[in-house]
Amino acid sequence: MNVVEIKNLTVEYSGVRALDNISFSINQNDFLGIIGPNGAGKSTLFACMLGIITEFKGEIYFFGENVRKSKKYLRDVGYVPQKPVFEKNFPATVKEVVRMGLKKGSEKKIDEALQQVWIHELSHRRIGELSVGQQQRVFIAKALVGDPKVLILDEPVTGIDKQSTEIFYSILHDLNQKHNITIIWSSHDLDAVNKLANKVACLNKTLFFHGVSQEFFSNEELIKQYSESSMQQHMHHHAQT
Ligand code: ADP
Repeated sequence: MNVVEIKNLTVEYSGVRALDNISFSINQNDFLGIIGPNGAGKSTLFACMLGIITEFKGEIYFFGENVRKSKKYLRDVGYVPQKPVFEKNFPATVKEVVRMGLKKGSEKKIDEALQQVWIHELSHRRIGELSVGQQQRVFIAKALVGDPKVLILDEPVTGIDKQSTEIFYSILHDLNQKHNITIIWSSHDLDAVNKLANKVACLNKTLFFHGVSQEFFSNEELIKQYSESSMQQHMHHHAQT
């Protein structure tokens, strides 16, 4: 059974199309990298998958369940937002933030999750004192204590240093390979997608490509076409703003 099946998904904001007739499926244990320029519709796609946007054409199935009919699937889905930035003096500690994700189980699970994302030693620090990359990992831990089968991550594009990025990627790799969590991850980092993901989806309002990552990255003509269409979108985006 597919973990996710998206059929003819179309989304419009006040009549302006953000996603146009998208169809693809995600298999169990896939590590899917979703790439696309700003404004390509990545966050819109996630919002539909998470039941935040309900006004769309087409259908989305999670674990065979139509997302319009039930929200039960969300129990098995962890979400890590793009900008988990707290005020410097936000009162919660790292451990307290992770605890918010706990549905059942014990404190032990919190410690395990903190260890899994390599920030156990920071557990009593206030969340706002951490770097953006460390906060990102706190949010992964918060998702992990809910025992997700699927993790959806909107990758932040700024404010994360190279070392933190490498740690982030190796955590994702481990969660997919050792813990069998299906990963759905949007990223601007094509090299990282090439290294980590087994499947790739290139989104630019329409779905330009979806398939095995190697097929995309070994096809220079495809990459060239994709870059050109992304560039046009980028320029269009700037012309509008
Ligand atoms: P991405 O995550 O790839 O940057 P988004 O899904 O955020 O793309 O945006 C896709 C398009 O939809 C963009 O043109 C954006 O301006 C537009 N959009 C996103 N959210 C809204 C909204 N709430 N209202 C109107 N337009 C929106």
